[in-house]
Amino acid sequence: MKPYRKRAWAEVSLDSLEGNIRSIQKSLSLGTEIMAVIKADAYGHGEGEICHKLEEIGIKYFAVSNLDEAISVREHCSNGDILILGYTPPEYAIELESYNIIQGVISLEHAAYLAQNAKNKVRCHIKVDTGMGRVGLKHYNVRDCVDEIEEIIKLDKLSVEGIYTHLAVADSRNKSDIAYTKAQIDYIHAVYDELKNRGIFLTHIHYLNSAGFCYHDDGKSTLARIGIIMYGLHPNYEMELPYDLKPVLSLKAIISQVKTIDKGDFVSYGRTFCAQSQMKVATVTVGYADGYSRLLSSKGEALVQGKRCKIIGRVCMDQLVLDVSCLENVQAGEIVTLIGKDGDDIITADELANIYGTIGYEVVCGISKRVPRIYV
Ligand SMILES: *Cc1c(COP(=O)(O)O)cnc(C)c1O
Repeated sequence: MKPYRKRAWAEVSLDSLEGNIRSIQKSLSLGTEIMAVIKADAYGHGEGEICHKLEEIGIKYFAVSNLDEAISVREHCSNGDILILGYTPPEYAIELESYNIIQGVISLEHAAYLAQNAKNKVRCHIKVDTGMGRVGLKHYNVRDCVDEIEEIIKLDKLSVEGIYTHLAVADSRNKSDIAYTKAQIDYIHAVYDELKNRGIFLTHIHYLNSAGFCYHDDGKSTLARIGIIMYGLHPNYEMELPYDLKPVLSLKAIISQVKTIDKGDFVSYGRTFCAQSQMKVATVTVGYADGYSRLLSSKGEALVQGKRCKIIGRVCMDQLVLDVSCLENVQAGEIVTLIGKDGDDIITADELANIYGTIGYEVVCGISKRVPRIYV
């Protein structure tokens, strides 16, 4: 373990990561492989260590959001396939080649410019927009879509290895959303089949994200682009996960001071909290600059000695205050668990997200750079 100073830190459990991957692997269809999504510094978990662990347990496909991330992942993993899901400006074609990175190509125009800038061959997967409405080839008619794909395949400085699409509502149990997802999947299959009719056989067709994998796996996606469930979080907090998963990341800090305050005393900026009676409070060394959202002011809870304590008043940049009246003996230096397990209780990133109306993804990605990641 790398030395670190105790203030606010994130513990990342590589055993939990491995356990999650093993659970996911048990449900993989024959012919589907995991593509580990490690964009945004592995969802805030730290891409280097996560990458090494994933390679060690046999993961061969990785996905990132952009070229900088791809180059940085390439430094940690010399063999795996790395796919850039997002846009790369065509002027970086040579870098894509030299780092052996696969680019998601979003249109014939994008492809043509990439090819123009390439020296030898740029590897790519073609992104088809089947309903996400973000990037990708967009056609109401499958034939037109395949026509455009054929034009891309003709470019001799591109090596097209697959097609893919992204599901917009795979995490919903609403009937119309389920039909929408099915239509997206049907469309990408229709494109793939029409390519085959025209004698074009691509190695990869993929469309499953975590929610797609959990709720819509038809066994025909060659890659499952798995992000959030690998980190032990829910694509949608309200829907049960079909796998036994453990959150990989915990966020911890320490108590800097404990004091007793009287009825009528205020706590933190804005005087939003006023003690209604004498109480014991503890100041904690974490704040919104660490990625612990200010939206959790007077709403979040944290675990001290395995007990839930409420945040009182506003979360500050570097500190927050807890009501620790329920604890007999509590002192400066004790560990506070903001996210994670302490004793029999656990606070998940999903739970915090739900309090202030976001998703667990944003909570873990938002843990800031000044918080050291400690691998346990
Ligand atoms: C981020 C992303 C994923 C992974 O999504 P999860 O919900 O975390 O599994 C898959 N595919 C694309 C295109 C993405 O942008």
